[in-house]
Amino acid sequence: MFKAGFAILQGLATTIKHVFERPVTVEYPEKRKEFSERFKGRHELKRYDNGLEKCIGCSLCSAACPADAIWVEAAENTDKERYSPGERYAKTYEINMLRCIFCGYCEDACPTEAIVLEKHIELSYYDRESAIFTKEMLLVPPPPGVWGTPKSVTPHSFDRAIPVMENPE
Ligand code: SF4
Ligand code: SF4
Repeated sequence: MFKAGFAILQGLATTIKHVFERPVTVEYPEKRKEFSERFKGRHELKRYDNGLEKCIGCSLCSAACPADAIWVEAAENTDKERYSPGERYAKTYEINMLRCIFCGYCEDACPTEAIVLEKHIELSYYDRESAIFTKEMLLVPPPPGVWGTPKSVTPHSFDRAIPVMENPE
């Protein structure tokens, strides 16, 4: 009898101890957790500060992807209709998120730092089609007050695919 009473008290003590501990869960989606610097979530396609797209359609990300998740189709830039510095831009850019294993190889392979795994975690779908993220979904908007792409530029001002300056004007 005494033994049973002691066990109950021990159990209650354990319960009471946990009442005063900080909860390990958060009330998502009202509250969101801070992620570590190294966290890899859904990708973004980046732009330069002048609004041009960093992606030059080279497909190195696609070649490096071990899950065959990226599809890139390149097209030619012209100075009248310019999307990115250099010869080509990504006309089509798609990532199949059902295939992606968030390894970051695409980010490592990219010569212009165009594709970056960010902190987006809301990746649930009702059908397979919705898991394919298109260029329009991945591309970040231009900075405030800056015209996006395509834009008309001074001839030969963006002949280099990888700009000498970080943000060429
Ligand atoms: S993170 Fe890895 S698996 Fe996902 S698209 Fe990039 S290279 Fe492919
Ligand atoms: S994201 Fe980078 S590696 Fe992929 S096609 Fe664009 S420039 Fe090339």
